[in-house]
Formats: sequence, structure tokens, C-alpha cells
Amino acid sequence: MTYDTNNIFAKILRGEIPCHKVYEDAHTLAFMDVMPQADGHTLVIPKAGSRNLLDADPAALGPLMASVQKVANAVRKAFGAEGVLIQQFNEPAAGQTVFHLHFHILPRSTGAALRPHSGKMADHAVLAEHAARIRAALEV
Ligand code: 5GP
Repeated sequence: MTYDTNNIFAKILRGEIPCHKVYEDAHTLAFMDVMPQADGHTLVIPKAGSRNLLDADPAALGPLMASVQKVANAVRKAFGAEGVLIQQFNEPAAGQTVFHLHFHILPRSTGAALRPHSGKMADHAVLAEHAARIRAALEV
């Protein structure tokens, strides 16, 4: 299994395609999922390229999990969620569709169903508003 530098998240990292950015530091980037399974569905990725968790440099995981925690707290706050689901898929058999390591952050509330994985594209104005809400929650 090799890392393809032309995957969609590598293109986002290079600025070749746009994203609704939520957070960025030296090692990681967080942005809205374009087909959100819940309002506030955010992805956190390392800047270092790896297909998924299985081939990642262990040194990249500390900064990545610190960003996952930071963004998860902001998502919970921004959406008033009771809980937060963190998901991460490795290889197609496990549900992975984009082959650059990423963690899904999904705000959850009791009884609220998730929409399908890689389902319907969201309205960009809505994603922009959600990203702004999460950025504001990160600032306080
Ligand atoms: P995976 O199945 O690999 O864990 O998840 C990939 C995720 O990336 C899916 O939830 C899908 O909605 C999202 N996604 C696919 N293409 C794009 C894109 O071009 N931009 C963004 N922001 N998300 C994407």
C-alpha cells in the first residue's frame, strides 16, 4: 500500500483545492467534511503524508491527537453537543475512501441519527458558517 500524493486531502494541504478551514498549526490541519454525517462534522489531518494510521510515522501522532482533542472540544462547544464521536478508518474494507490519514469529529446528541458516510454534499454557505462557529469556540 503506497501513499498517493494526489489524493484529495494532499491537494487541500497544498492549497490546490479549497476547504472550510477550522484550525491549522505546524503539523496539522482541520476543516469541514463536505458530506457531513452531522452538522459540525470536522476532519483533522496531519501535514505529513501517510495513507492511514497503519503506515503513519509515530512521531506525527502526538501532535495529531493534540489537535483532535482541541478541535473536538471546540466542536462540542460550538454545537452544544452532549458527546463527540471520533472515527478513523483504515483501508477500503474498513470504510476508508480518502487515502490520507484523517480523524472524523462528529458532535452527537442522544437520539439524533447520523447521516450516511460520504452521503450528500452540504451547502457551502452552511459549511462556512459552521467552520466560523468552531473557530470562534477555539478562540475562547
Ligand atoms: P473516509 O471514508 O476516508 O474515512 O472519509 C473521507 C471523508 O472525506 C468523507 O467523510 C467525505 O465526506 C470527505 N470528503 C471527501 N471528499 C472531500 C473533499 O473534497 N473535501 C472535504 N472537505 N471532505 C471530503
